Amino acid sequence: MSGSGAAAQVFGVGDVSIVKVVDVIEPMSPKVLYVDKTREDFDPHLDWLQPQFIDENRSMLLSIHSLIVQTGRHTVLIDTCLGNDKESAGFPQWNHRRGTFLEDLARAGCPPESIDYVFCTHMHIDHTGWNTSLVDGRWVPTFPNARYLFNRKEWEGIKDLPGVHEQAVLRQNLLPIVEAEQVQWVDGEWEIDDVVRLLPTPGHTPGHCSVAVSSGAGRAVITGDMMIHPVQIAEPQWQQAADADKALAAATRTAFVQEHCDTDVLVLGTHFNTPTGVHIVSQGDRTRIRLTS
Ligand SMILES: [Zn+2]
Repeated sequence: MSGSGAAAQVFGVGDVSIVKVVDVIEPMSPKVLYVDKTREDFDPHLDWLQPQFIDENRSMLLSIHSLIVQTGRHTVLIDTCLGNDKESAGFPQWNHRRGTFLEDLARAGCPPESIDYVFCTHMHIDHTGWNTSLVDGRWVPTFPNARYLFNRKEWEGIKDLPGVHEQAVLRQNLLPIVEAEQVQWVDGEWEIDDVVRLLPTPGHTPGHCSVAVSSGAGRAVITGDMMIHPVQIAEPQWQQAADADKALAAATRTAFVQEHCDTDVLVLGTHFNTPTGVHIVSQGDRTRIRLTS
């Protein structure tokens, strides 16, 4: 499934709107995402995960989308998905894509020139792709008027990795932004309009940051890959294969679930399929979700 084509989902948080624009939705095997989990491990959770988050084949539905926070004064785009025309992207279907993301972004009222800031929760391929677009054979910033917030710790963690995949991310998605002088370096701390601020959630990568949004009585957190699938609200100790520091990531996730359980904080999962926004609630000694529309 590539490009939603459907109307964008919009979340209201106080006076702020958060617009979700999908790049791609993919069914994915638990084995790809988790260290030692299989489809059977989902059986105790199917009653609350299907049909939104697990399909009829018991594949996980992984949504790759951007969340655009409109504070009234600034427009901040969180995570830039896969992008088009990329190479060495890891999964074959992520290479040489021709998705409709930019058209969908414009249709949702957020054309590229309207974006003031871009922040990638971390510097993996599926969070940095639309940083750039291929124009006349060159990678150029997709968002011409944006400052791209680069987390120095995250950059230090990736820039010297020798793998083909990491180097492809650097070459295609990151270095062109540096060369265009559109980078604003941050150290895990940044906020704007008293509405949007970074929330360090290390483990998946060393510098990984979620994003907290607050406006009036409304509060939300955009997870990034601190948690990839809603099942982890019930099973925060499950280890994600892609977590760089698996123990730290599990500790970060467990603390997050405990801290946000039975609160009014809207949890917006960066890879949660529609409806994407959930509240964490307790059911006896278990943690589950309450869906929002
Ligand atoms: Zn991801």
